[in-house]
Amino acid sequence: MRIAMISEHASPLAILGGEDAGGQNTHVAELSAALAAAGHDVRVYTRRDAVDLPVTVRSPDGYQVVHVPAGPAEPVAKDALLPHMKEFSRWLVDRWRGDWTPEVIHAHFWMSGLAALAASRQTGVPVVQTYHALGVVKRRHQGVQDTSPARRIGYERELGRAVDRVIAQCRDEVGELVRMGVPRSRMTVVPSGVNLATFAPLGPAAERQDDRPRILTVGRLVERKGFQTVVRAMAHVPEAECVVVGGPPAGLLETDPYARRLRALAVTCGVADRVRLVGAVPREEMGRWYRSADVLVAAPWYEPFGLTPLEAMACGVPVVGTAVGGIKDTVVEGVTGDLVPARDPCALGAAVQRLLDDRIRRFAYATAARERARRRYSWAATAERLVEVYGDVAAVRRPTRVVA
Ligand code: UDP
Repeated sequence: MRIAMISEHASPLAILGGEDAGGQNTHVAELSAALAAAGHDVRVYTRRDAVDLPVTVRSPDGYQVVHVPAGPAEPVAKDALLPHMKEFSRWLVDRWRGDWTPEVIHAHFWMSGLAALAASRQTGVPVVQTYHALGVVKRRHQGVQDTSPARRIGYERELGRAVDRVIAQCRDEVGELVRMGVPRSRMTVVPSGVNLATFAPLGPAAERQDDRPRILTVGRLVERKGFQTVVRAMAHVPEAECVVVGGPPAGLLETDPYARRLRALAVTCGVADRVRLVGAVPREEMGRWYRSADVLVAAPWYEPFGLTPLEAMACGVPVVGTAVGGIKDTVVEGVTGDLVPARDPCALGAAVQRLLDDRIRRFAYATAARERARRRYSWAATAERLVEVYGDVAAVRRPTRVVA
């Protein structure tokens, strides 16, 4: 099939770890690669955020990345991108008047959905929507600190009713969408996958001290990822070290406000000598860090899907996660890891310490985690399920509203 992925702020070619570069980038890159490997013609449309970017780039994984000129050719925070979506969709419509028209558009994040829907109204190409995150959930947890455009929640509701199919990534998201007023019948649940070649138990591991258990935690350095809870929990895990991967490149951690806050908190909690921030790590090196860990901790306040627990599981690393969002689906409590309430350093610390004290449990979790990731979460399987959805929506004829 000819498939257009729209990912306005999250380029599959971006360096990850920064504030707006994480799971969606990985998702779009891996999904596009898996679809291309299955013989599909995939083009990813993302905003041109630097002057020196060529319009099209061929990824080594077999898909094309198209840089859409919409807004200034420089980084713009994702919460400031809404005004540029009209321009984004107009450019798509013009482009698709040429020799390549997609059979389906798969939009990632709500603003991509708006651009996709506007383009669809002109071209008749059906739209499949993955939200990756929902404004209602963000507002609930972040309150006044949520910098999303005020109309986000309303737009997300409308999108859910207007697109041809909504892809929910976990059961929790289905519930949220239903409560927002998106009919269940419009949704299909297709979880993200994990790259089973990059994330495997065997392979090089980052250096570590043998006698000090390592807790790893990974993600964009933003408050809702719960790194503060992890630092506080370290007081309950006296022998271990905690490695935090993510954020700006190592050299810029000194000036990163959130990294500074975390370090200050570690000093206050008396654990500064056991908490290490390493900054952003390239995607292809992430396996080294997972493999060096005894336990992966994922402690977000909320999590639309959560790739890092799954990546750790694929490497055969047990997970202690908060019982939120997609983590409740990927981690099977008492089988592949443990779940604790969010924002509870005592519960988190106790669960981690219990696991570190119990070698046999760790081994059992690791084996089951690896098996679960391998059997249920390959990108090839995710791509196959999505192709079924694409085929279904493309089979329904839509009225074309192309103005001559
Ligand atoms: N990641 C990375 N380098 C980093 C930090 C994160 O490659 O320094 C990747 C990580 O391996 C995962 C993604 O970024 O693939 C984060 O996805 P997740 O779903 O956990 O969080 P999100 O960014 O979607 O909130």
